[in-house]
Amino acid sequence: ASFDPSALDDLLTRIARDAPRHFGEGNVASYIPALAEVVPDQFGIAVCDVAGRVYRAGAADTPFSIQSISKLLNLIIAIQHLDEADIWQRVGREPSGQAFNSIVQLEVERGIPRNPFINAGALLVTDLLVSRIMSIHWVMRELARRLAGNPALAFDTRVASSEMAHKARNAALAYLMKAYGNLHGEVDEVLDVYFHGCALSMSCVDVARAFAFLANRGVHPDDGSVIVTPQQNRQLNALLLTCGLYDAAGDFAWRVGLPGKSGVGGGIVAIVPGQMSLCVWSPRLDSYGNSVAGLRALETLVEGLGVAPLG
Ligand code: GLN
Repeated sequence: ASFDPSALDDLLTRIARDAPRHFGEGNVASYIPALAEVVPDQFGIAVCDVAGRVYRAGAADTPFSIQSISKLLNLIIAIQHLDEADIWQRVGREPSGQAFNSIVQLEVERGIPRNPFINAGALLVTDLLVSRIMSIHWVMRELARRLAGNPALAFDTRVASSEMAHKARNAALAYLMKAYGNLHGEVDEVLDVYFHGCALSMSCVDVARAFAFLANRGVHPDDGSVIVTPQQNRQLNALLLTCGLYDAAGDFAWRVGLPGKSGVGGGIVAIVPGQMSLCVWSPRLDSYGNSVAGLRALETLVEGLGVAPLG
């Protein structure tokens, strides 16, 4: 690797030590009780390099609800198992410029969601998975376990049922797509699978390890297995750069300059192609649903490492 391991350890330690400066900014997700009760002022950070080595600081081993980071996992399952033409006929690849749970474009664009990383798009991908894959909950959890190298990784069933009890908005997105004939399955079944993905409980170390293959041309650093082809890998990173942080994707590219995916649990994963994956977690969110302290930490990390894939 082109960086010094002990310097990276020092950098992560410094970032974790400084993170409390941003505690108090933003608020934890409050749309479901299970997330509203999370202790707000926590911070973790982990890095996994392309040799599979892990660096960590703060609460890097504390599991959190991955939420929208599951949209990436679901898309990976879809491209592994399905005909790609089927996917891209039903979901777009353009940034939406709207909030992650927005419905406004869906009517104008006749039930075709802008991209797989907003709720409508992720629900559509989930519909494809439900219709083509047996035991999709199991497949999802097993892939997360295998990628993270953590056989204990599990769904937080309390989060999953809390999501279902407050499903109205996601149900509205799914029903509108169903009305246009783009979503085919039973809405509640699609929601159940989507919510279970959101409710996967993973730590910063789990997430960094799970997505390190995206920094390694689709090859898992631990065992050399091919997760996606080099072309699919490049495409996933392109989509993460343009759409991974919803209507803050442009600002994220400006500030951090890396492909990334955030979730309302406060986690953000980012990819330094050819070098490493990064995961930060801190539950307080900005108005876009992205972790405030997490974004700050990524800016400092990228600056400190001197990584600049965009030049
Ligand atoms: N479970 C959340 C929802 O469906 C996920 C959204 C997110 O993390 N941005 O609204």
